[in-house]
Amino acid sequence: MPKFIFVTGGVVSSVGKGITTASLGRILKSRGVSVSIQKLDPYLNVDPGTMSPYQHGEVFVTVDGAETDLDLGHYERFIDQDLTREASVTSGQVYMSVLDRERRGDYLGGTIQAVPHLTNEIKSRIYSVAENTNCQVLICEVGGTVGDIEGETFIEAIRQIRHELPRADCLSVHVTFLPWVGATGELKTKPTQHSVRELRSKGIQPDVILARSDHPVPRDILDKIALFCDVDPRATIPMETVSSIYEVPLLLEERGLGDYVLERLGLEGARDLDSWRQMVDRLKHPAGSVEVAIVGKYVELHDAYLSVKESLAHAGIANNVDVDVRWVHAEDLEVRSAEDVLAGVDGIIVPGGFGERGWEGKIKAATYARTRGVPYLGLCLGMQVMVTEFARNVCGLAGANSTEFDPESPYPVISLLEEQQGIVNKGGTMRLGAYPARLAPGSLAARAYEDDLVWERHRHRWEFNNAYRDVLTANGLVVSGTSPDGSLVEISEIGGHPFMLGTQFHPELQSRPTRPHPLFREFVAAARAITPPATPLEPAAAAR
Ligand code: GLN
Repeated sequence: MPKFIFVTGGVVSSVGKGITTASLGRILKSRGVSVSIQKLDPYLNVDPGTMSPYQHGEVFVTVDGAETDLDLGHYERFIDQDLTREASVTSGQVYMSVLDRERRGDYLGGTIQAVPHLTNEIKSRIYSVAENTNCQVLICEVGGTVGDIEGETFIEAIRQIRHELPRADCLSVHVTFLPWVGATGELKTKPTQHSVRELRSKGIQPDVILARSDHPVPRDILDKIALFCDVDPRATIPMETVSSIYEVPLLLEERGLGDYVLERLGLEGARDLDSWRQMVDRLKHPAGSVEVAIVGKYVELHDAYLSVKESLAHAGIANNVDVDVRWVHAEDLEVRSAEDVLAGVDGIIVPGGFGERGWEGKIKAATYARTRGVPYLGLCLGMQVMVTEFARNVCGLAGANSTEFDPESPYPVISLLEEQQGIVNKGGTMRLGAYPARLAPGSLAARAYEDDLVWERHRHRWEFNNAYRDVLTANGLVVSGTSPDGSLVEISEIGGHPFMLGTQFHPELQSRPTRPHPLFREFVAAARAITPPATPLEPAAAAR
């Protein structure tokens, strides 16, 4: 049986508990300890796939097609390991399996209760991922903050696991926040004391307290926390805000978190964050910069495009440049000229999306990129945008559209996947998870990947309509990646353009800081190399 680290949050949410968890994973892995990470989300949705980005930010998709919390993206990027469906547990899933069993009659005669039925289900999901991943340490993060009504069963399940296992096999890490009171110019520990009291009232004494703060934390504050919360002063560790999330493992390791955790769990392994540090150094000392526009619907909420933003940072590291993002509201492009909104950008990304709002603005962004030779990367919806724009403005198919937005379009160049027809249930029914794509030799895609078969993660219902493949390719569109049987277009490119490429999948889900995704890497390389002309190219050159 592996050892367990449970990460809970106190005081307020959104202080970077997910990044802390991921960083702890990196620290252990760098010391040669095998890890896996699981997220326990107390909300009642079965998964976040049906939630608005306003509620939840990005939906992260695992290789095996689960729609999960964006923290899984942080975990994968930090520990450089693919996680699976089991790594994401919600109250919705827990209730659903218990209630399914009840309906089947499995508990015939019994009263179904939060304890033990829900807690047993939670425990079995924790134990099972630990066993299946064969890791030495499973880190389990509980979403929300201690005291949330929905989180109670998860906290109780953790208490029971701590009770069932030898003391040395479990560690509880509590991430809190120290507010700064401007009037007196000091950091306050009281909210931390209260949240630890709340945690202890549920039967869990924290072993480690990580105190987030936007200000330097003096030693006497830490000693006070240690005393009042009954935690070893060595394990009361400050975590001030840093300029890049990738610095967090370095900061925590330097402050002794790795040493303390290994000692408490009875494990061994020397510090080795050298290559991680080199990556962070490169990130912090770029030789130049490029500006990339992300044209989307939720741009005021950067978390909605978290993996895209991170992938750009990774590609920046590979190209030795800082990538500045210009967040562009697609709807702005519907009322202002593309020249106004996009002037000066070195590259344009149209990321994934659902729903009609901003669609025409995204088409205008694609026209701008195509006619000016500005590097363009279309991700899922962004490829559908690129194909539609090409059909309308190069192939002369006026009114070409995706049937998602115009079911009556005379030229439905993007249509519903066959397997999607007639689907009514919204949850978990898209084309999800990793599928193979065969690349066309010599294409931009094949050159970037340096491979002929790649696996990438999907999350969509619509696709390139094959009825238009001939007319589009005759006009210069290059189909550079397809499903192995050739039936589904997975990557397309605009022939003759320096870099205009769209993917039906989401490459951003597989980029890692230490292993940037090839398509992002080449996109940023193109953005760096090409100075877009101030005026559109000649129509003939633009079309080719
Ligand atoms: N709405 C489009 C589809 O379902 C694109 C989805 C996406 O960008 N993830 O096909």
